Amino acid sequence: MSACEKLLLLYTGGTIGMQQSADGLAPASGFEARVRAQQAQAGDLHLPNWCFRELLPPIDSANMSQSNWLAMVAAIRTGIEQDGCDGVLVLQGTDTLAYSAAALSFLLLGLPVPVVLTGAMLPAGAEGSDAWANLFGAMQALHQGTAQGVQVYFNGALMHGARVSKLQSDAFDAFTVLPRQRVAERATQLPDAINYRVQRQPVNIAVLPFYPGIQASHVSALLNSGVQALLLECYGSGTGPSDNAELLATLKAAHERGVVLAAISQCPQGHVEFGVYAAGSQLRNAGLISAGGMTREAALGKLFCLLGAGLPPAEVEHWFALDLCGERAE
Ligand code: ASP
Repeated sequence: MSACEKLLLLYTGGTIGMQQSADGLAPASGFEARVRAQQAQAGDLHLPNWCFRELLPPIDSANMSQSNWLAMVAAIRTGIEQDGCDGVLVLQGTDTLAYSAAALSFLLLGLPVPVVLTGAMLPAGAEGSDAWANLFGAMQALHQGTAQGVQVYFNGALMHGARVSKLQSDAFDAFTVLPRQRVAERATQLPDAINYRVQRQPVNIAVLPFYPGIQASHVSALLNSGVQALLLECYGSGTGPSDNAELLATLKAAHERGVVLAAISQCPQGHVEFGVYAAGSQLRNAGLISAGGMTREAALGKLFCLLGAGLPPAEVEHWFALDLCGERAE
């Protein structure tokens, strides 16, 4: 546990700082002055000292991309290495907050200070808003001392950044860590090739659920679009249409030419265990690797972390199968 004395408050946009426009709520700059005014008005909140950085332009997090995550990493490194911050609070919209928390969990492996993300369901200043409670609550939690790594603070709770999901679109307790099986070998040592200092590039990753009626042509259209990895959301314990030989051959051919194929379960509380059903074993034989009980957000962020660092497919598969930060083992 480390208690934060000098915090980097990194504002990226989201409902928390949005203002009403003719088209509805829209991202707005100038949030630092509003936070300082609210802090002064609230009196003694026991907060760390803080400096403010804003990623421009502030965005609705529906527009989140890998480039935004890389910009966050760069701003966080500047805050720590140049400004001497010993903790980070990222403010962003809730719609993709769990994706960002997961991506940052992997992109910031080895970072020596804690990082927390929060946002709000209602804008700061709106009646009944959760914005100030989430923001100042997260700052207080960091000041009191939090574990290293990435976490989400929301509605009074701190949650593991690589396990959390947004399950509600209209409730203050929008985020939850669902009980999913987490059993995996822990990586004993993290190689320099995947720590937070590595310069990464955006990569081409797609996510596709299996559904009754899926055709080999659907899957091959995606695989032929240049993806470096495909995250397949399988049924139950990791099954899919195993009687579709064309589909299985399509997957196998893509794997053989270096596309990483990873499998998560569509069940909110499920995990992949290919050997349970013959249908699952066929997917494994086609080259799919299991994400165990990882969430979609975690699997996507992990694939980006590994592929974005330029690792070859076999190494991506190796590190993907190990637990790097608590995403696949308790
Ligand atoms: N659409 C908004 C966003 O994700 C919702 C929010 O901030 O909660 O930025």
